[in-house]
Amino acid sequence: MEIISSCEKMQELAKTWQKEGFVVGLVPTMGYLHEGHLSLAQAARKKCDIVVMSIFVNPTQFGPNEDFAVYPRDLAHDTKLAQSVGVDYIFHPQAEDMYPEHYSTYVQVEGLTETLCGKARPGHFRGVTTVVSKLFHLVLPQMAFFGQKDGQQVAVVERMVKDLNFPVTIVRVPIQRQSDGLALSSRNIYLSEEEKKQATVLSRSLRMALKAAQNGEKNAAALKELIYQEISRQDLAKIEYVEIVDAVTMQPVTELKEQVMIALAVRFGKTRLIDNIMIPQNCED
Ligand code: AMP
Repeated sequence: MEIISSCEKMQELAKTWQKEGFVVGLVPTMGYLHEGHLSLAQAARKKCDIVVMSIFVNPTQFGPNEDFAVYPRDLAHDTKLAQSVGVDYIFHPQAEDMYPEHYSTYVQVEGLTETLCGKARPGHFRGVTTVVSKLFHLVLPQMAFFGQKDGQQVAVVERMVKDLNFPVTIVRVPIQRQSDGLALSSRNIYLSEEEKKQATVLSRSLRMALKAAQNGEKNAAALKELIYQEISRQDLAKIEYVEIVDAVTMQPVTELKEQVMIALAVRFGKTRLIDNIMIPQNCED
């Protein structure tokens, strides 16, 4: 496995793969890898000739009061983990190479980015779609792998790919969870033992709502209320949002319809956790 840190070298190499006709898979991450990230790489390994994992803590997707400076980083450990699942290349660019002096170009998806996490994190998705566009141009993948864990993010990326005709197939990978249901996240290391215990309420409340929906409850307000009540029983949990949205447009629905996503964001102290579930469960675990 090789680590590439120059954007220019990355693109040169990608052009040679394109000429050779290799199927290239990209797994974009911010590093501090866990089994969730590795499941994306494993899915890429199955479908692609060459697997590139990018590891880049992207400054443009963090707000001024967010955790960019303290976001966990451990390239040495990430390298070992990536190698263990057959990643061929790690692309680890420097921020100055990705965003040099006078950088002025951003990609903005409208509508879908204004609900859920987009409300609380203005500019976040603009940062995501900008960096993903740049990665697509640098790595020239035929396929890119995103986790359902960030359900709004993958919907936004799918919209961008369609709207801007990127020749890339987006593959969604199910959420990887601990045995107690907590979705794996690099940010879980911020949680105290008590917060970790209480945070299992996220997946539990989503499963309760799923069950209620499967038993015939179609009213979004009723399902949201169920989740609110369950989460509110945990004294350290501060709900940012609980929402039920159309799986494609990310707009709130009042009644369950074809395909919806129940999504939530909850704070435990300074740590913000997100989770979601799709109904019906055709692209979820
Ligand atoms: P991040 O490093 O947090 O930006 O995540 C990089 C990619 O890994 C994104 O596509 C995430 O959705 C995905 N990912 C993160 N956590 C999980 C998880 N628990 N299960 C599946 N995919 C995940």
